[in-house]
Amino acid sequence: MPQERFDRICPSPISFLENGVGPPGGVIRFDVAEPGFPPPEGAIEATKQALSSGMFRYSPSRGIPELRGALATFLKSTRQIEYSIDEILVTTGGKFANYAFFASLLKPGDSVVLTKPFWTSYKAVPEMLGVRVVEVWATPPYHLDEEALKSVLGETTRAIVLNSPNNPTGGILSESDLRLVKDLAEDRDLLVLSDEIDWAYVYGGRHFVSPASIEGLRDRVVVTDGFSKVFCMTGWRVGFAAGPKPLIDRMHTVQEHAVSSPPTFAQYGCLRALDGYREYIERNLATCRRNLESVLDTLNSTGSIICPEPEGGFYVYPRLDPAICSSREFCDALLRREGVATIPGECFGDSRNHFRLCYAVNREVLDEGLGKIARFAEDLRDRNQEKLKKA
Ligand code: PLP
Repeated sequence: MPQERFDRICPSPISFLENGVGPPGGVIRFDVAEPGFPPPEGAIEATKQALSSGMFRYSPSRGIPELRGALATFLKSTRQIEYSIDEILVTTGGKFANYAFFASLLKPGDSVVLTKPFWTSYKAVPEMLGVRVVEVWATPPYHLDEEALKSVLGETTRAIVLNSPNNPTGGILSESDLRLVKDLAEDRDLLVLSDEIDWAYVYGGRHFVSPASIEGLRDRVVVTDGFSKVFCMTGWRVGFAAGPKPLIDRMHTVQEHAVSSPPTFAQYGCLRALDGYREYIERNLATCRRNLESVLDTLNSTGSIICPEPEGGFYVYPRLDPAICSSREFCDALLRREGVATIPGECFGDSRNHFRLCYAVNREVLDEGLGKIARFAEDLRDRNQEKLKKA
């Protein structure tokens, strides 16, 4: 791949701070989409037990059968979709499930449709593989625009990426959005990558509906998900994909040759996490709702930031008044001066002056960071008003 293509790739938030940007004394990290809650009870113990009982060798490259079986049950009850064990691939994180989709089902010269704003890796990975990315705006918070979509579908279009609840907006696709996807997918013979990694983070009595559960769409959809966000097990690096066997078989070939198997002992920890997960999820959602209230109150009272209430996810995607400065300058100065990391909308293909802030963190950290953001934004607003008076 030519060097310029690498140079254009937006860095992932995880690598963003590697060079020690920010004032001394540590950085408050609202940038990474990593819930800071403890993993489910028993998951750590089960991982340790797996290690001490010798589960530290390679294991089947599709994932251990116990976990694939448990995931079939989990997908049935959380998404109302029936998958056989052969239609499930345990992967090295949700990221690798997405990677395997692009690498095995698309070829250089094909194109894939992304709805903007989109999560950074959906653009980076296909571009690295020589697949063309076509971007189309979603209607806020995350609905599909039929005319806009139809206008970008062409001869080379092979797939569309859906990500509901959406990272970064938190928007959730409606059933009518999904019916549109079905019609377009049938009409244009498209595959659908449905990244459902945040499926449980849904508020206000809303329901998440998987595109794969829509009649007639199942055989075109690959669902990707993982243990990082809903189970707060980011470091286990376990994700999964579910879909029609011929597609999963191709994705498996990529995984088999690229990574052999996902970490063996980690899969046993994930298996335990699936025991009684509902209560665990409810607890974290209650914390997220409380945190979200403080985030909305604080940001909306700055006078320079408009923060809509998200439908889902564990981040907000507010807009900064462009008269104050660009969101990129804002995020940069907030990090350097106050030690609070957030991500500008440009990393999600969006230059409308938004930024993303992840609030699934512990309460003290949240309060400290919000206090710093409020002071910083108010200071910027006051300076801007003085500048206007002088002008
Ligand atoms: N999909 C989305 C939308 C994400 O935000 C992330 C992580 O940030 C992932 C997938 C991948 O998560 P993991 O590889 O940790 O399972």
